[in-house]
Amino acid sequence: KSGFIGIIGRPNVGKSTLLNGILGEKLAIITSKPQTTRNRIVGIFNREDAQFIFVDTPGIHSARTPLNRLMVRTARETFTDSDVLLLVVEGGQETTPDDLLIIESLKATSVPKFLILNKIDLIRREQLLPQMDAYRNLHPFAEMIPISALTGDGIPLLLDELWKYL
Ligand code: GDP
Ligand code: MG
Repeated sequence: KSGFIGIIGRPNVGKSTLLNGILGEKLAIITSKPQTTRNRIVGIFNREDAQFIFVDTPGIHSARTPLNRLMVRTARETFTDSDVLLLVVEGGQETTPDDLLIIESLKATSVPKFLILNKIDLIRREQLLPQMDAYRNLHPFAEMIPISALTGDGIPLLLDELWKYL
């Protein structure tokens, strides 16, 4: 099977590191088109049993200017093209206004969403529990998966969970 996976999250949470960690040597394509208001494919990971097409959803990070608001709307509309959305956040960190803004924009779509708690190599697992509770109250995420994009911890599990939604 094959499916589109939208990756969202504010800057510096580790989205690029996650993609590099997944794609690694098995990278099929990477596009280098300049960022537009449209979604763009950033990489395709081919596994024996599935094809995972990762898509960037630009413009979602901040809606404080009219242009940004337009881009947020465009991103939101194209969310529905994804089979799964990954919201990447920093594990063990407080939720920021930008995180809340992104979650608000997710509510418009019924596409299943995973909360990805990244950088768990920097914290103890127990520190994730209050954060997971907080996010559970904000939005019904289909899965919550702690990972370290840097060490690869949790990435095989993430791919197996994604596979179920393709
Ligand atoms: P993006 O802006 O969301 O694409 O974030 P990047 O992938 O560029 O990562 C931002 C910074 O966080 C970089 O310095 C990464 O090395 C670091 N980073 C990303 N993932 C991890 C992780 O799992 N653990 C640690 N310790 N650092 C990470
Ligand atoms: Mg990046």
